[in-house]
Amino acid sequence: MRHGDNPHRVNRIGWLRAGVLGANDGIVSTAALIVGIAAASTDRHGIILAGTAALVAGAMSMAAGEYVSVSSQADTEKADLELEKRHLADDPAAELEELAGIWRDRGLSAGLALEVAKEFTAKDALAAHARDELGLSDEFVARPVQAAVTSALTFSAGAALPLAAALLAPPQAIILAVSVASLLFLAGLGAVGAALGGAPRLKASVRVAFWGAVALGATALVGRLFGAAV
Ligand SMILES: [Zn+2]
Repeated sequence: MRHGDNPHRVNRIGWLRAGVLGANDGIVSTAALIVGIAAASTDRHGIILAGTAALVAGAMSMAAGEYVSVSSQADTEKADLELEKRHLADDPAAELEELAGIWRDRGLSAGLALEVAKEFTAKDALAAHARDELGLSDEFVARPVQAAVTSALTFSAGAALPLAAALLAPPQAIILAVSVASLLFLAGLGAVGAALGGAPRLKASVRVAFWGAVALGATALVGRLFGAAV
């Protein structure tokens, strides 16, 4: 985390962002698939089966993607820490001056900055450099498994919504029910995400619902074209 940020809000956005994105993806991709198939076929069983497959496949793909991306972030953080450890061992005086410089930049006087740097260095030099120089803090250490599980769960939760709408709707109204329900959920999710992150709600809702509608329209069109052609 960079200094000056509100740690609580930033931290919350990190988790929130992952959760909202996962749920968003789940809603959009599953709803779009259901609408596309429903536009081509009236086979209710096939529609539900495809929606269920989309949920499972999407959750797995999200988990794998997130695992890979967060793992490489973790590798980068580890390499940065190793480098910092070497610098501290090779040239402790320069590292102390570097840390004091960071505190001077944050507004402390030269004497106090040096005092602060000395005390942090005596306590845990690596932790001080990780935090103040690299911007890494304990709560920000990349956790690949946690990230993978979170994405898979939030994607599944999102995907379950259009699937439930398809299950509950009468067969001839699946497209309408799934589209309306999904756009409402997307708009709601956009508003919640914006509110918790401190951003304008209406703008976020409209944006996310608009792109959801574009996705649904596109697959419905594909479904119509292929359904008519096959
Ligand atoms: Zn350093």
